[in-house]
Amino acid sequence: MTVATLAFAVFAPVAPYLTDRAYTYAFLAQMGVAGPILWRAWRLRSDYLGMFVLAWGAPITLACLRAFSSLGLIGWSFWLDNSTLASMTIEALLSSIAVAYRIRMLSRERDVAREREIAALLLADTDSLTGLLNRRAFLTEVIGRSGEQTLLIADLDHFKRVNETIGHDGGDEVLRVFARTLRESVPPEALVARIGGEEFAIVAPADILIEPRAILEKLRAGRMPYDVTVTASIGTCTGPLLREVDWKALYACADRALFEAKSAGRDRVRGRHLPDRWAA
Ligand code: GH3
Ligand code: MG
Ligand code: MG
Repeated sequence: MTVATLAFAVFAPVAPYLTDRAYTYAFLAQMGVAGPILWRAWRLRSDYLGMFVLAWGAPITLACLRAFSSLGLIGWSFWLDNSTLASMTIEALLSSIAVAYRIRMLSRERDVAREREIAALLLADTDSLTGLLNRRAFLTEVIGRSGEQTLLIADLDHFKRVNETIGHDGGDEVLRVFARTLRESVPPEALVARIGGEEFAIVAPADILIEPRAILEKLRAGRMPYDVTVTASIGTCTGPLLREVDWKALYACADRALFEAKSAGRDRVRGRHLPDRWAA
């Protein structure tokens, strides 16, 4: 089209008929490309095909008719000869609407993608059974905290028996109720996570008051599926949590306290302090 247009501009004064023909054929050849492109867009179910056809359908059809008229295939008409102006005006209007529509589609797609990303991130951090933080997310959150932190490990007593009595699904429901009880019994600053099968962890700055005995009382008072009796034991320990080694020491300490609670008859709390070299 560009070459034909330039040739027309330069050589029309000497060869008007030839350059006009060249221009007309170049135009029709270009229209020949439009067909396959439209067909492909239709096959791909392009969202913009409808808009394109709406905006460009009239200018293309009318320009083709003008080309036919120029080739003498159909008769000349004043309206046809001037139709391009009107149809291009409409095309300009519709194309700007199409551009606005496309921008809207893109921003909507971006919003959906962003929402999905947030949902995926949340899902990756959440324990699917209880909705609490999972172990990985919990460790990422707590390791690196400055200042003394208190760790509580809560473990259900004889949970194997609970599963044997009310079945695995019933056991799952007990885990959900226990998770809710924990969440409701601690202040909002405390992080609660399920770090193992029936083992839960709570971490909060040491100056935040957490009452582990109140948690156990609430658990005793709460209703469980099939009215099964469920108790738990809690081990606590306070110390720094700045690095991974601090976490290992704090966890080992709280786990030892938990072991003491279990050994002393379960359904109770035991607390320990870190040895001085860790607490320093
Ligand atoms: P203890 O009082 O000493 O803690 O005894 P326990 O039976 O609770 O402890 P043990 O560690 O021997 O058993 C834990 C049980 O928890 C074994 C396992 O089948 C069950 N469990 C672990 N994860 C899940 C879970 O996601 N759902 C259910 N229903 N049970 C689970
Ligand atoms: Mg247990
Ligand atoms: Mg356990």
